[in-house]
Amino acid sequence: MDEIIEKIDDPDLREEIEKIIPFHGYLSTGAFIGLQMLNLARRLLDIKEGDRIFVTCETQNCLPDTFQILCSSTIGNKGLKIIDHGKMAVTINKAAPPGEETVKSVRIVLDPEKTVDYPIFHAWYMNEAKVSHEDGINELIKADADVYSWYLIDLPLPIKHKKKVTICNICGESFVQDENETICKWCINPENE
Ligand SMILES: [Zn+2]
Repeated sequence: MDEIIEKIDDPDLREEIEKIIPFHGYLSTGAFIGLQMLNLARRLLDIKEGDRIFVTCETQNCLPDTFQILCSSTIGNKGLKIIDHGKMAVTINKAAPPGEETVKSVRIVLDPEKTVDYPIFHAWYMNEAKVSHEDGINELIKADADVYSWYLIDLPLPIKHKKKVTICNICGESFVQDENETICKWCINPENE
């Protein structure tokens, strides 16, 4: 893997890879896909250093870590959402200007119609062959933005409700209500028993 990283000319890209490795544990193919998606989004949405960005990852595997370490978009600060569709896809937007009801976002997908031109990588993507992270990333470096499809969408911004906290009638613990429910989700969900 070191040899592959050394061959990368772009010092910014190398620096970002060096940050991903200790955070994720190693440079995985998925984390590298996240990095390429991020760089695409930076160009498409004119994201500058230090801009707060909001990311929805459609897989839990690898991709989210790139955004957590490089953009400080985390689950805890609501910069990162994971909706696990089992897809190599992300939707990214910057913070909306005040007063707006929608925000310009880009959804980027690793496109199988395009990965087909990179057979080793395509075999990894479709899980048709065992492909090392080295070989996968090597192909991705060659392909660059060539394997992604994207489109812009105006996403409606979530409406903020006032937070209501109450005490559960059964367990006596406090919880944040969605509506006016009086029993907490822990008590409703029998799998907790
Ligand atoms: Zn309860």
